[in-house]
Amino acid sequence: MNQTKPRILTGDRPTGPLHLGHYVGTLKNRVALQDQYDCFFIIADLHTLTTAITKEKTSGIPDRVRGLVLDYLSVGIDPQKSVIYQQSRVPEVTYLSLIFSNLVTVPRAQRVPTLKDVMHDLHIEQPTVGLLTYPILQAADILMVKANLVPVGKDQESHVEVSREVARDFNRIFSEVFPVPKALIGDVGSLIGTDGQAKMSKSIGNCIYLSDDEDTVNKKVKGMYTDSTRLKPTDPGHIEGNPVFIYHDAFNDNKEEVTELKDRYVKGLVGDVEVKTKLALALNKFLTPIRAKRAEFEGKNDLIEQIIAEGSQKALLEAQKTLDEVLTAMGIR
Ligand code: ATP
Ligand code: MG
Repeated sequence: MNQTKPRILTGDRPTGPLHLGHYVGTLKNRVALQDQYDCFFIIADLHTLTTAITKEKTSGIPDRVRGLVLDYLSVGIDPQKSVIYQQSRVPEVTYLSLIFSNLVTVPRAQRVPTLKDVMHDLHIEQPTVGLLTYPILQAADILMVKANLVPVGKDQESHVEVSREVARDFNRIFSEVFPVPKALIGDVGSLIGTDGQAKMSKSIGNCIYLSDDEDTVNKKVKGMYTDSTRLKPTDPGHIEGNPVFIYHDAFNDNKEEVTELKDRYVKGLVGDVEVKTKLALALNKFLTPIRAKRAEFEGKNDLIEQIIAEGSQKALLEAQKTLDEVLTAMGIR
């Protein structure tokens, strides 16, 4: 691949289907930047081992990888323009990760805030070495393709910081091999879940998925958390931090309707039912083209497999090139 454009690397762990949080956090930026950047979208299956090392989970990886590709295609990621690849098909990344692990101290890795968050959320008492080095493997993913930009959700910013430090340290100790990558955070930093309690997350189950049908969306919206201080529709309501309005702001393209609903809400002139009915309509409108695109590719497993195989081949070539350069810079080769 001739590097004429700046590069993007970002991706997802194949732990489940993608949701609205992924869309605002990173997918929207990915689709928007596909023409300006050479994009590499990684399906980070090795990263799932850090929280799910059971045969049941690992043997489900191929299915979930195909599911993610389908999610990508449905939102408009175009394999003609962008590389979609599976991390485990590019073993060079683990080699690079091993080299990088010598540039990061144990306390530095322990200070990454997501480590504590993941341990807390998943009730992990002692982190494995794999979980501790998660951001180092991620640095290898990013630097392997010499990415300039990493579109991720707010929760991933601290990981990109580790990649930046690794790039700077390597360049300083050896020679200028790596660009120092920048994080690009989506407009809605971290989208809250339908429960109003935590960020929308596959492992919590407070999600509206891009693959949900109309009825499911209607039901989920009906059950959404709103303003708990408001007991009846005539009480003045709060907009700030209210998930229903956060979603209206993010997904309802009728801005006038949103302004008008907010205005009535704070005055106690509209009930949750109307706000939610309008939200469900807006979300279903947003999801309609995504559903149509998904239907085009659904069941075409051979095509999906071909996309992964071709993408992984391209990523592999980049990885071999970078690893050669790294070993040469280090004087090992
Ligand atoms: P898991 O529960 O398995 O960690 P997840 O739903 O948090 O899954 P990830 O695969 O960890 O999803 O995240 C993939 C990308 O989507 C990352 O860039 C992450 O920052 C972003 N992302 C995930 N959830 C949200 C959210 N609620 N709001 C904004 N961005 C998000
Ligand atoms: Mg996550």
